[in-house]
Formats: sequence, C-alpha cells, structure tokens
Amino acid sequence: MPDANQDCLFCKILAGDIPADIIFESDTAIAFRDINAQAPTHVVIIPRKHIATINDIGEADQVIVGSLYLAASAIARDEGIAEVGYRVVMNCNAAAGQTVFHIHLHLLGGRALGWPPG
Ligand code: AMP
Ligand code: ZN
Repeated sequence: MPDANQDCLFCKILAGDIPADIIFESDTAIAFRDINAQAPTHVVIIPRKHIATINDIGEADQVIVGSLYLAASAIARDEGIAEVGYRVVMNCNAAAGQTVFHIHLHLLGGRALGWPPG
C-alpha cells in the first residue's frame, strides 16, 4: 500500500495486520466499530490514504474526505439512526483529543448526545 505509514495503527487495520470489526468498505474509505465505544453506535470511518491530521488534508484529497461523509450517512442509515439523529466528529491534534494520527470521522448515535462536547 503506497500510502501506508508503518507506525500507524489504522494503516495496520487497513493492511489486515490488526483485526477490526469492519462494517463498511469503499474504494476510498473503510469503517469499523470503535474498540472503546462511547455510544450504542460508535463507528470510526477512515480514508484508505494515510493523512495524519486535518491540517495535512490537501486540495487533491477533497474527494477522499468527502467520501468519509458519504460513508457516514450510509452507515447511519444501516444502523437505523439516520432519522433520529447522530453526530460525526473529527478531532485534530492533542487539545481536541486526537490519539490516532490517521484522520477519522467518529460516527456516534443511538443515544441523546450533549452539546457542547466536553
Ligand atoms: P481519536 O481519539 O479521535 O484519535 O480517536 C481514536 C479512536 O480509535 C478512539 O475512539 C479509540 O477507541 C479507537 N481505537 C483505537 N484502537 C482501535 C482499534 N484497534 N480498533 C477500533 N478502534 C480503535
Ligand atoms: Zn495511517
């Protein structure tokens, strides 16, 4: 995989080196259930391309990043939470709580979600 980063946990999941409960796959993205779920539905949606943070998204990545949102709406529909509502969030760097430096959307739903987030 040309974009893979050898030290990246999510690149290892993409390569099949670390198991994950993968529930969605497209040409540009995959999604799997979060190992430490914060809601009845908590899915992590990642691009196949290794991009470390939002700050590293380039002009050429717009279709890839857009595809994460298309994945989110498709998964929300499949999970039965599209109409009642859900949240997608992407953390950037330490102050926001990013711990895995391969961009990912969190898809959270299945319970009432407070605002603002902590
Ligand atoms: P963030 O803190 O925004 O970088 O989110 C990283 C997310 O990845 C956290 O919610 C973790 O629980 C989740 N996570 C870490 N390792 C795994 C794994 N092996 N499989 C599934 N989810 C994971
Ligand atoms: Zn990666």
